[in-house]
Amino acid sequence: MRILVTGGAGFIGSALVRYLVTDVGAEVLTVDKLTYAGNLNSLRAVESASNHRFLQADICDAAAMNEAFESFRPDRVMHLAAESHVDRSITGAADFIETNVIGTFTLLEAARRYWSALPSEQKDAFRFLHVSTDEVYGSLGDDGLFEEVTPYDPSSPYSASKAASDHLATAWQRTYGLPVVISNCSNNYGPYHFPEKLIPLIILNALDRKPLPIYGTGANVRDWLYVDDHAKALHLIASRGRVGEKYNVGGRNERRNVDVVKRICQILDQLRPDGTPHEQLIQYVTDRPGHDARYAIDATKLETELDWRAEENFDTGIEKTVQWYLENEWWWRPLRDGVYSGQRLGTLETT
Ligand code: NAD
Repeated sequence: MRILVTGGAGFIGSALVRYLVTDVGAEVLTVDKLTYAGNLNSLRAVESASNHRFLQADICDAAAMNEAFESFRPDRVMHLAAESHVDRSITGAADFIETNVIGTFTLLEAARRYWSALPSEQKDAFRFLHVSTDEVYGSLGDDGLFEEVTPYDPSSPYSASKAASDHLATAWQRTYGLPVVISNCSNNYGPYHFPEKLIPLIILNALDRKPLPIYGTGANVRDWLYVDDHAKALHLIASRGRVGEKYNVGGRNERRNVDVVKRICQILDQLRPDGTPHEQLIQYVTDRPGHDARYAIDATKLETELDWRAEENFDTGIEKTVQWYLENEWWWRPLRDGVYSGQRLGTLETT
């Protein structure tokens, strides 16, 4: 099995590449532009694996994408490359439109060009997994869950650009017959998560005894999934998901943001006690515009059709995650010290 993974130097992409290369034994080509969010250190575990190759390229570059398909000749594409940080999309949406919309279009066209010339047996077996987010569905009230049939209602430039890319992927399946499957996942957490995102930001700020910012009252609810569970779900959906279908992915682990932050504080009180409870560092800050109140996934389709279950619950997963950050300063310290082009640490994100 030859798998082309876009965005494989990012948070979820690197977890997926490590899983595919090490556990599945697939031949993997990672294609990544290495934006501020891409980090080859996240692929260190597979850097000497004979079944992994890395290509630094932009998915908006049609010639580079055509060349990647022709030279690697994949059986499958798993498309994760994206601009992913909601707060950045609010202050500057252009990169989100460029990569998430134009980039996805460019990749779909390169995939179609390559796929349409394949012999019929390989053509039937080919899959294009488009990886997306539950944020395309907008916000829930106190009750209910996002289902695959929930209408799209995105709130942020990020989620609007992802919604647009989902529609392009669906259109390429319906119009051209490209064997596309789409996944929509809830919030991920775990090792190698870029330090601008909520969970690593809180862990690292708490370690430095810096303020722990929480948007609004912290009542916003997210449905947290451990990143390795997502990687396994993606492999399953790409392997056995039905063409033209969408699959929601979520761990049934709803938590209010304020409770996530307090749980991290409790864990650090035990692992790194210093006399003062870490909760005293919490600071409530002005809410993000258009901040969705609640996301929660109904993963019944994935559970019943493909027999997937999240293995990690939030309580064990968050302990593992905090422990990982304590043991892997080599990975996060250069990012934390601002050795990347964004220079925006200290902002808060919940995805
Ligand atoms: P990330 O920001 O950590 O990684 C994105 C990767 O894409 C980076 O390595 C970056 O260098 C690369 N990239 C960006 N623009 C590119 C371009 N033009 N060409 C090639 N590579 C480019 O993101 P993530 O959190 O790992 O998310 C991966 C995917 O999963 C995204 O499509 C995102 O929308 C989706 N998703 C994320 C979450 C979450 O909680 N993080 C949840 C559901 C879905």
